[in-house]
Amino acid sequence: MTILALALAAILLLWTSVLLAFATPLAARWREPVLRHPVLIIESDDWGAGPLAQADALTRLNTMLQRIRDASGHPAVMTLGVLLEVPDGARIAATGCAEYHALPLADSRFDAVRAAIQPGIRADVFAPQLHGQCHYWPSAVMAAARDNPAVREWLTAPEPATTEDLPSPLQSRWVDASSLPSHALSPDAIRQAAAAEAAVYQAVFGSAPQVAVATTFVWNDAVEAAWARAGVEAIVTPGRRATCRNAAGQPGCVDATMLTGERSLAGQTYLVRDVYFEPALGHVPQRLADGLQARTRQGRACLVETHRFNFLQAPDASLAALETDLFTALAACPELRFASPLELARAIQHRDPAWIETRLMPRLAAWRARLDEIPRFRRLSRLSGLALPLAWLGRAA
Ligand SMILES: [Zn+2]
Repeated sequence: MTILALALAAILLLWTSVLLAFATPLAARWREPVLRHPVLIIESDDWGAGPLAQADALTRLNTMLQRIRDASGHPAVMTLGVLLEVPDGARIAATGCAEYHALPLADSRFDAVRAAIQPGIRADVFAPQLHGQCHYWPSAVMAAARDNPAVREWLTAPEPATTEDLPSPLQSRWVDASSLPSHALSPDAIRQAAAAEAAVYQAVFGSAPQVAVATTFVWNDAVEAAWARAGVEAIVTPGRRATCRNAAGQPGCVDATMLTGERSLAGQTYLVRDVYFEPALGHVPQRLADGLQARTRQGRACLVETHRFNFLQAPDASLAALETDLFTALAACPELRFASPLELARAIQHRDPAWIETRLMPRLAAWRARLDEIPRFRRLSRLSGLALPLAWLGRAA
């Protein structure tokens, strides 16, 4: 009996040590709100100033998304991460590449693109959000063009540019990646640029940006503070914040990780986008439904990242794949809700009881489903046997 009691005490001590060692990430996942219903948001970046073929792609997306409705009748929502300018190639070429000139989204050449966005906004299928004035830092691209003929050619092309063709490091707006590792921009330059792009966004869309997503997910506190002043209340993230391009050109200098519902220093609500669906890259159907079911078990919304290039490079196949996937997701989770990131962020901010779970057992089950993502915790909980009572927690709910 004594031996049994001692063994039991040893096991409990072991489990307590494991839980204490991981107290911070465990507690963060307990504090993270648990959603009552599955929520799906298609997050689509890079729209706006750019190739004119976007107009047709957007019109087809609008029509397709309106056909797909959740149980309450709300159509599927796709965010449009919007870009507000590309280079004016002809004018830059006329200066011998000595001066930068912008071709803004408000230019009449983009009339058809803007006209294709508006009906989607009115129909609640497009939710525009700020991606950036441009998908680069202009003076960095100008500097890179001095000794990179491909960048020079890109900057001076007569047709509206496709920013996806720029070397990846230069696609980061909030650092100077003209040489690597990148150099930080001054907080003053960031403040001015963010205020200017928010004003342009407001002029085009009639309201200040409320949600922002940094190009290539490279940004910092100064950007968040400037966005807050401009009215941005939610920031879409991949769950971590990179603040530079490292010597290899990759996003680096990660200075923060975040869970949905956590707040930035400037007070914005972070959202996490971590399911990826790029049909033009061969991502198979079912990916979206699988991601949705996994996030639903975790009590999380499923934010699916995709990009306009799918709908420009392979429009028929990408549209068909997205439609199939959305119907598959609805069949897998009939209680699914389509929503915009702003609705989600506000429901979390206000702890809206229609969205946020308060009952203990469903919260425990969601918490249990979140734990496997904590580095090393899964292995240690298995080795120590702690996985057994945790699995029971998941089942009991
Ligand atoms: Zn982008």
